[in-house]
Amino acid sequence: MLLIFGLRVFYRAVGQGTFHCQRCGGDREYRHRAGRRWFTLFFIPVIPLNHVGDHVQCTVCGTRYRMDVLSLPTTAQMQEALPAGMRAAAIAMLRAGGGSSAAARRRAMDAIKGAGVADYDDVALDADLSAAVMPGQPDLAEPLNRVAIQLAIPAREWFLAEVVRIGLADGMLSDDERHAAREVAAQLGMTPAQARGVISMTEEGASA
Ligand SMILES: [Zn+2]
Repeated sequence: MLLIFGLRVFYRAVGQGTFHCQRCGGDREYRHRAGRRWFTLFFIPVIPLNHVGDHVQCTVCGTRYRMDVLSLPTTAQMQEALPAGMRAAAIAMLRAGGGSSAAARRRAMDAIKGAGVADYDDVALDADLSAAVMPGQPDLAEPLNRVAIQLAIPAREWFLAEVVRIGLADGMLSDDERHAAREVAAQLGMTPAQARGVISMTEEGASA
């Protein structure tokens, strides 16, 4: 009797979710697949051998990716991160300046609208200003860390300059406002030297 045997890799799905598929250029469903080599007899897997590694596969185009593709933000997360980050940073700067200056409020609303929150108005601003924060701990880290991973260095500088202009809308930066700007820069992953550069350039631009 003739025995037909061989080796073959079989995959099974061990998870699923949504990711950004670079081939499709958009958010797609993926399957997380784990592979294992089998010894086959008459094309039937009979003996499990070694694991051959996990991958992520797009369910639309079939492209396979390494697992670390899942650390990239989806398009939906990116679209959400910029407005959320600008909102948190603008509110922190307004708070540092007391929150009552009409010019600073207008500037903050423009910055938040410019980042994609089209219907942001006075009511939303008041609600954001009066929302509870941990004492002495502006809740900037989470929204800004999320926005930082997708902004290139020049875009981070633009972001920080936008926030600084809110503080400058009613005159020179106070110590609290300068501190808020440095905090925003730090959470964006900028060095203190980069932050100082952007802050002073923006100040010069405002007084020119
Ligand atoms: Zn795809």
